[in-house]
Amino acid sequence: MSEYKTFSADEAMAFADKHSELFGDHSKLTAKEFGDGNLNLVFRVENDKGTSLIVKQALPYARCVGESWPLTTDRARIEAEVLKMHHRFCPGHTVEVRYFDPVACAILMEDLKAYRILRTELNAGKKFNHLAPQMAKYLANTLFYTSDFVLSSEHKKAEVARFLNPELCLITEDLFFTDPYCNHERNNIEPAILEKAKTLWHDEALKAEVAALKADFLSKPQALLHGDLHSGSIFIDEENCKVIDAEFGFYGPIGFDVGSLLGNLLLNYIACPGLHQAEDAAEQQAYLLQQAEQLWQHFSQTFTELMSRETQDPALDNSLYQRRFLQQVFSDAIGYAGCELIRRTVGLAHVADLDSISDAGKRADCQRLALKLGRELIMQRGELSNISQLQTLVRYQHTS
Ligand code: ADP
Ligand code: MG
Repeated sequence: MSEYKTFSADEAMAFADKHSELFGDHSKLTAKEFGDGNLNLVFRVENDKGTSLIVKQALPYARCVGESWPLTTDRARIEAEVLKMHHRFCPGHTVEVRYFDPVACAILMEDLKAYRILRTELNAGKKFNHLAPQMAKYLANTLFYTSDFVLSSEHKKAEVARFLNPELCLITEDLFFTDPYCNHERNNIEPAILEKAKTLWHDEALKAEVAALKADFLSKPQALLHGDLHSGSIFIDEENCKVIDAEFGFYGPIGFDVGSLLGNLLLNYIACPGLHQAEDAAEQQAYLLQQAEQLWQHFSQTFTELMSRETQDPALDNSLYQRRFLQQVFSDAIGYAGCELIRRTVGLAHVADLDSISDAGKRADCQRLALKLGRELIMQRGELSNISQLQTLVRYQHTS
């Protein structure tokens, strides 16, 4: 293929067949577009033995809006390259990319059909003890091995340039850090919480902290981030979890990836009283807080070990500096988790955790709590010195 063209199901099938050895001439293939995502086409190509692969193709616009929102197809290259890099450093928890075609802007990858989307499972009240340790391993390894602790100065700068991703970063910059704090037409605010949402627009102290978090997002290229690590980007089964959908990847602050996931655990925590009966809700909340704790404990432990064992730059090989570095990642993560809570409540892209609460009164209560806790996390991120203080803050918010 010499120029870009949107795939039909048959073309996705031919693409998968050509670039994999799984199918072969005599297989009876079927292909179906089934993506429920916001931006891209996702096909499942399957043979008559049930073996399957996924073809994900970037459209030249955002699928959820249509052609009026043009969007670079280079995001497919970013996604393929980030996933390949993360797979190299954490093969157990990153989806495997089999092939990338830069002209068709299409990725051929492992089909995770035996897994389920984490958000759906959490909303159904499922609990997985392996979630936090495995995601901590993913975060620590992918972020450490793409950072200045390991890469040479020259290599690092080349990598930063290779993963600039300006168009998708701009979406995050707007949706996370700008829109929720002003009366923006892209916001999606339920009337029941409009008054509460409006208080954000005039909260100068909060806006100053969000400005600092945005400035870091713009100018702190610490590691190659996933960039969109919410619970819809994680597939899980009874033993394992795997990350997909890295098209927002770029070199940014490590706390952003950690905080995005932490924020999604907390969003689910906040939604529990609206999603489950009282007793189940309390149990699910205890589980989620324990996972939040483990996520940070395992992440910081692994990252600390990697820093002390694998740091290449002699100047950065200093345990006092490394402790300070990790403490900063912690407070950044809490701040970005707070931003996630707020933007998922009043911004353009909501989450089913809150939106699927059918009782309108309960839904509004949960949304108000998300805004309140989001603000607390952002404002107090510098004062919280460890994860158990975060747990206390979350519990206190809930009962007050
Ligand atoms: P978008 O970037 O457009 O949001 P996603 O990468 O999130 O697209 O994929 C959209 C949906 O397609 C996912 O929610 C999931 O249902 C399905 N999907 C994507 N990748 C895979 C995969 N590797 N295996 C199985 N299903 C997948
Ligand atoms: Mg995506």
